[in-house]
Amino acid sequence: MDAKVKAQFEKVDNLRIHFLNELHAKCYCNEKHAVVTSLNLLNSSEAHNREMGVRLESIADADAYADCMAEVRSILQASELVYASPNVAVQYLEPRTEPLPKVGFCIRCGKEQRCNPDGPLCVEDFKVWVRHEDPDFPEQCCHTCGKRSKVSMAHPLCSTCEQRYHTALVQLDAERNSGGLLAWRTWRV
Ligand SMILES: [Zn+2]
Ligand SMILES: [Zn+2]
Repeated sequence: MDAKVKAQFEKVDNLRIHFLNELHAKCYCNEKHAVVTSLNLLNSSEAHNREMGVRLESIADADAYADCMAEVRSILQASELVYASPNVAVQYLEPRTEPLPKVGFCIRCGKEQRCNPDGPLCVEDFKVWVRHEDPDFPEQCCHTCGKRSKVSMAHPLCSTCEQRYHTALVQLDAERNSGGLLAWRTWRV
C-alpha cells in the first residue's frame, strides 16, 4: 500500500483491510442495508462512469440480504487481513444466529413468561394495553434479558438484545410478512 493512502486509512477508527487476489465485487453494507454495485470508491467512478447498483434491506429483502451477506463473509474468510486500526472494537459481519431464548419477561411487570417478541406482555398487562393499543407506549423491561430499559410493544428488546438476536428477529418479521399476518409489530414500518 502506498504510504500516502496508508496514512489516510490510519485516521479511520474501527477499520480492517483485507486483501483477496482478483476480487472484483463491490458491495457496501451494514446491518440494515447492502448495496451491490459496479461503483468503485474512486472520485473518477462517480464523476465519469455510468454505474448501476441494487440496494437490499435486511428486513424487506431478508432472503437476498442474507445471501449477499453470506457471500461477503465467504470473501472475508478467503481473504488475508493486511491492516487493522489499533482500536478495532466491533466484531463486524459475524453471523448473528443466536436463537431467541425460551423464557422471556413481561415488558411491563417483568414477570417471567414464554419468550415471544410478538406478544411481550403478560395476559393481565395485555388486557390493559389493548384499551389504547399504543405500540410506542413506554414499558419497563427488556423482553429477553429482563433488564430495565426503554422498550415498547413496537421495540420489546433492549438494543443489546436486538443485536444479539438480530437474525432471529429478521426471520420472525419475514415469516410474519410472508404469512400476510398484520401483527402490531409491523406498525412501526
Ligand atoms: Zn406483566
Ligand atoms: Zn435485553
